[in-house]
Amino acid sequence: MQDTDTHNTATNSLEGMAGPIPQAPKGHSGGQQVIVIGAGISGLCSAWFLQQQGYDVLVLEASASVGGNLQTVQRDGCQFERGPNSFINNRQAMADLIKGAGLEEEIVLANAAAHRRYIGKHGKLIALPSKPLEAITSKILPWAGKLRVAKEPFVGQSAGEETIAQFATRRLGKDVFDWLIDPFISGIYAGDPSKLSIQAAAPKLFALEQQHGSLIKGAWAQIKARRAATGPKLDGAMMSFKLGLHQLMRTLADQLLNPVQLNTQVESVSYSQDYGYMVRSGDTIWQAEKLVMAVPAAQVARLIEDLPTPNEPQLMAAQKQLRSIEYPAVATISMAFEKGQIQHPLDGFGALIPSKENKQTLGVLFPSSIFPDRASANQHILTVFVGGGRGHQAMQLSADERLALVLDELHSYLGIDGQPLWSEESYWPAAIPQYTLGHLQKVAEIDQALAHLPGLYLRSNWRDGVALGDCVEQSQVLALQIVDEDVEDK
Ligand SMILES: Cc1cc2nc3c(=O)[nH]c(=O)nc-3n(C[C@H](O)[C@H](O)[C@H](O)COP(=O)(O)OP(=O)(O)OC[C@H]3O[C@@H](n4cnc5c(N)ncnc54)[C@H](O)[C@@H]3O)c2cc1C
Repeated sequence: MQDTDTHNTATNSLEGMAGPIPQAPKGHSGGQQVIVIGAGISGLCSAWFLQQQGYDVLVLEASASVGGNLQTVQRDGCQFERGPNSFINNRQAMADLIKGAGLEEEIVLANAAAHRRYIGKHGKLIALPSKPLEAITSKILPWAGKLRVAKEPFVGQSAGEETIAQFATRRLGKDVFDWLIDPFISGIYAGDPSKLSIQAAAPKLFALEQQHGSLIKGAWAQIKARRAATGPKLDGAMMSFKLGLHQLMRTLADQLLNPVQLNTQVESVSYSQDYGYMVRSGDTIWQAEKLVMAVPAAQVARLIEDLPTPNEPQLMAAQKQLRSIEYPAVATISMAFEKGQIQHPLDGFGALIPSKENKQTLGVLFPSSIFPDRASANQHILTVFVGGGRGHQAMQLSADERLALVLDELHSYLGIDGQPLWSEESYWPAAIPQYTLGHLQKVAEIDQALAHLPGLYLRSNWRDGVALGDCVEQSQVLALQIVDEDVEDK
């Protein structure tokens, strides 16, 4: 889970400190080439890719286990995820990581039926069309909405930064926004599309308009380019591992030559030309030439407090920008039912509930339909997402009240009879960072305020994209960037 910001309790800034390098911690050999703060997917992958390049890396992690948001639970013969459920095989960096870590044999592919996705409309679930022709007869969009889509190639571009809601409504019309884009954005960001920036939160969609003048023309161009491409292709399959996503995190941590230091909340960081980065947790201080902060934005704001700066107001402005990145609370509730308790066949990945349905529930996954062996043969598992940008009311309730609310809200969609055999809630007080209007400018200002510090790098889902693939890709990019910089310096 991610920490929310607490005010800076560090009192003994090390900047400007004279005298010998402080005592290395017991059992530790002294200075590292690189320290990584945070053992979520961004931090662990950065450390692993850097070690592959020959760097000596140490990871410091506040909590008692590695993985950050990736948490797999085994319970009563079932396996489920508290956070992310799966990833898509569409990034070379992820493929390199899995191969390099020797995890190819551990991959589990999603069942074919898991490609079907449902949308909730007027209390019923409607399957999303899987072929273009099905879209014409699908009941998700009214006829006026379908006709409006046909005008998309002729819509002009906008000059300024837009929200996802403005962009999608302008290009595709209100019906597509309400019944398709809104639920998908809830599914990715648990956020409010009328606040999120199209450029920052959906850069691929934005690029289609920029490069092709139209989403439809751009999508066709991409399909043609993919067909024409030669060489090995990533198959886009939905995947996990036999022991769930946490297996990836544990394997990477086990392969690091320096064991990850758990229960180690970094409280302050300082820098001097003589000693490099001095990183403090309690009475222990580590020293390194380079430092990667792979922690939530509010933690970065706190950790940069004591860094030297030629421009104090600029550093303070960067801290303010970091603290302004919203992370709405989300709860995920996993529960098991006897198969006979649910009327819907659950033959798909899950269902997204558009805001128009006026529910606090954002969506529900069908984990036991997605992957084999996640529950016993006569049981189903559901994982429900509630809260985020729209479910503020639900987040004020107790866990029992929230369970009652989601069971009530899901009744008409799934036909659930009775209470679950068991249920387990994971409450994420700061779930997913929201890339609201101005986010890219914010990130640029933060980078600018820290640009004078050699060997300091920021990674994490508040800047690199929130998908697991983004975090892995940017970790690999970072390792290669550091290698390039070191080659140039020699
Ligand atoms: C409920 C939920 C469902 C999601 N579903 C999906 C999905 O299906 N697909 C998908 O692609 N993505 C999904 N995501 C998003 C994805 O999980 C995240 O974007 C990604 O895991 C972020 O990884 P990270 O390493 O950047 O950050 P985190 O996972 O937050 O890791 C940061 C780590 O830093 C540690 N830390 C913080 N402060 C300090 C400190 N001062 N000192 C030391 N350590 C510190 C924390 O304990 C944590 O371990 C989901 C997220 C959530 C919350």
